[in-house]
Amino acid sequence: MFQVQVRLLDISRLARHIGAERQAALLARAAREREVMAGRVLWNVNSTATGGGVAEMLAQLVAYATSAGVDSRWLVAEASPDFFAITKRIHNWLHGSPGDGGELGRAEQHIYQEVTETNLKELRQRVRPGDVVILHDPQTAGLSRIREDLGVPVVWRCHVGKDESDAWTERAWEFLRPHLEPADVHVFSRESYAPKWIDRDRLVVIPPSIDPLSAKNQPINDDTLLAILVQTGLLAGRPAAGAPTFRREDGAIGVVERQATVIREGSPPPLGTRLVVQVSRWDRLKDMQGVLEGFAAGVALRGGYDDTHLYLVGPSVERVADDPEDQQVLAECAAAWGRLPEQARRRCSLVSLPMHDVEENAAIVNAIQRFAAIVVQKSLMEGFGLTVSEAMWKARPVVATAVGGIRDQIVHEEHGLLLGDPTDLDGFGASLRRLLDDPDLANRLGRAAQQRVSERFLPDRHLLQWAGVLSRLGLG
Ligand code: UDP
Repeated sequence: MFQVQVRLLDISRLARHIGAERQAALLARAAREREVMAGRVLWNVNSTATGGGVAEMLAQLVAYATSAGVDSRWLVAEASPDFFAITKRIHNWLHGSPGDGGELGRAEQHIYQEVTETNLKELRQRVRPGDVVILHDPQTAGLSRIREDLGVPVVWRCHVGKDESDAWTERAWEFLRPHLEPADVHVFSRESYAPKWIDRDRLVVIPPSIDPLSAKNQPINDDTLLAILVQTGLLAGRPAAGAPTFRREDGAIGVVERQATVIREGSPPPLGTRLVVQVSRWDRLKDMQGVLEGFAAGVALRGGYDDTHLYLVGPSVERVADDPEDQQVLAECAAAWGRLPEQARRRCSLVSLPMHDVEENAAIVNAIQRFAAIVVQKSLMEGFGLTVSEAMWKARPVVATAVGGIRDQIVHEEHGLLLGDPTDLDGFGASLRRLLDDPDLANRLGRAAQQRVSERFLPDRHLLQWAGVLSRLGLG
């Protein structure tokens, strides 16, 4: 287990995005929590420091809470590959998907408990009576035993889920149930994700948020944006002005230096290209392959869209610690790409982004999302799509599937286009063409999307809801 060093982020910097009234409410609540939490530590534990939505959000929330005076820390529980194979299976089953076809029986429970025991020993050495522990996702559920050991309040925060239960979800929940029962509060992104046996009095619903000022979402001008995309090898050409820079959380100016690893035919697309983009981990439930095939048939192989190119963008597959399937999923996508007719293959690229420097990675994602003509999130299941909020914040028109939390993020035809059936590739292609053919519609949806995020999915709402959880624990 190791602690992630997080920069402090002054909550007052949010003022220009949330306005005076919301800012005042946030500062008032922060003052109250500062008093109640004095001398206590708010521990967050998850299983990866980079890659994916949980790491993305923890970096932001821990930083804001600490600078508001609530001593918040972030620990990453480490584990063996067989443990992560099991927790990935749980993750897939909780989404109603069979995953790798393996079991969740006695042997898996044994491995899960053994790893949990090791991490629990380390956690016991760090946590003191009076502290509060927030555990994220199935990988850390077993650590809720710390409550019995030290008498500290424990919150389990689940970032995944499926609205309707099925045989897979039920079996995964049965596996987790004994580990979850000690927790005082269970937090879900949607109420329907919680299994029936979770006591509704101990259930809190908190949708995620994005940080408008992080390297991922901060405004960048067009010259810088193009410089980043050329530097990373994602667009051809040499922009006349602009350096590939971004602002780091500590205020320093960072420079994008690394290149993306790209599977493509020929050279990068030119500056005038319209990009359709999906940014995701290489996870089957994100259906990168479906995006590829839907784009190839619905856009690349049809006449009239010669200036349009697809980028499937994910993290470099060596770097996401708790995701054992990413290499395989990328390989499957590459194989599907290789099977496309050459005319389509030339218009689709598979992009793996460098992950050595999280903020550099974020700056590249920022530039890609801002440059995109359309951002896609064609997930088969999605607890809540941070990538959807990120694109909406950048006023991009989004085509996404009407699954899970995405339905809370986008109202169809108001803030983006939703696809009722995530496997409907014809419908997917038609939605892309509709936006490519109608720039006014694309602009209107993009503007409404930005407003939606501004109202609902920024950190002030999120932090206030977490303060509400502390109140439930009798702290504030
Ligand atoms: N992401 C990233 N670099 C990548 C691919 C993804 O930073 O190369 C980020 C993405 O911008 C988003 C997060 O990973 O912030 C994914 O969160 P989301 O909720 O969309 O999905 P999850 O990975 O949690 O299932």
